[in-house]
Amino acid sequence: MVNRDNIENDISNLLQWYHKEGRILPWRSYWPKLTPPYHVFLSEFMLQQTGVSTVVPYFRYFLENWPTIQELANASIDDVTAAWAGLGYYARARNMHKTAQIISNEDGLFPRTVPELLKLPGIGPYTAGAILAFAYDAPSVVIDGNIERIITRYFYIQETLRKSKIELRPLYKSIIPKTHRSDFPQALMDLGNEICTSTNPYCGKCPLAKGCQSAKTENPALLPNRSVKKSKPVRKGQIFVIRAKAKNQDKDNYLVYRRDAKGLLGGLLAFPSHGWDEKEQKFDDTWRPLNIKWIELKPSITHVFSHFTAQVQVFTTEIDKLDNYNLPFNLLYYCNKNRRTPQEFKWMSDNELHLPKLMQKALKLVQNQK
Ligand code: SF4
Repeated sequence: MVNRDNIENDISNLLQWYHKEGRILPWRSYWPKLTPPYHVFLSEFMLQQTGVSTVVPYFRYFLENWPTIQELANASIDDVTAAWAGLGYYARARNMHKTAQIISNEDGLFPRTVPELLKLPGIGPYTAGAILAFAYDAPSVVIDGNIERIITRYFYIQETLRKSKIELRPLYKSIIPKTHRSDFPQALMDLGNEICTSTNPYCGKCPLAKGCQSAKTENPALLPNRSVKKSKPVRKGQIFVIRAKAKNQDKDNYLVYRRDAKGLLGGLLAFPSHGWDEKEQKFDDTWRPLNIKWIELKPSITHVFSHFTAQVQVFTTEIDKLDNYNLPFNLLYYCNKNRRTPQEFKWMSDNELHLPKLMQKALKLVQNQK
């Protein structure tokens, strides 16, 4: 059992440590300053599933181009997803844009309660708690993976994480300080990043060490007790990169199309591809979109999506630059077997291409073999 005085001392040490050692991030303010809600909103959507160092330049780019939520709401979804290219998990960009439009219709004012925030597309309990804490200094619950680990270790919760998750919220609430509430979760996040790391907790340097129950054990890294992770299913596919040397131009051109708005990589530019089914794929020449000589590039690509791992073979070929009317019939209908109208293809040079990560990997493979 952790003594209440120890908790208060530890939290006070944590906040002092944070003011000295915390990271400087473009969306972060230190108490008593608070971060504008739009900045919390942008950064938290980007940080879902993506690391801080990757997000920083995207955050800056979005703020430069769309400094207010109204400007983001008025932007076209194509411009927003193009700017998002490389961050992955594109449903986040679409939800962020929809939510920006809803809030913009409310004069740009964010809701101030968790239940109201949870009604907005793409906002779950963590993001709702973060907006309220970072922008309004509210005593909301903000639990990410780092904080989950620290609370579990601090209170020495031995049950599996799946069972203990429900206990973590009241424990977190019980240690929220009376002031610096905007700093508190951010301090825990930095502590989890730098000191209470998953494999090597440095308890000797930790501001929470006095009250931490795990610090008294032989190996604090044994917690949290994770139940066995299910491995993701593997789906196989093929990507076809069709290249044309443009006359009188140095740049190569690539044949791409915009995927349908719904589904995997929805609304994004892509090369023709085939497969992606959960069932085992057996590929042969009949699946290729053009009946010409293809070169298979090695090694094949592995790319992890949120709900499956893609193993992809990449093929490339070079053809004369044709317009959409002259492209062969089987290519025009290739990218969606249910399509009743022909697919619109475009030739684009590599500096115009804003491709999602998987397609970027395929392009790199092609460019490396030249
Ligand atoms: S004392 Fe050790 S186990 Fe406890 S929170 Fe700090 S680093 Fe983590």
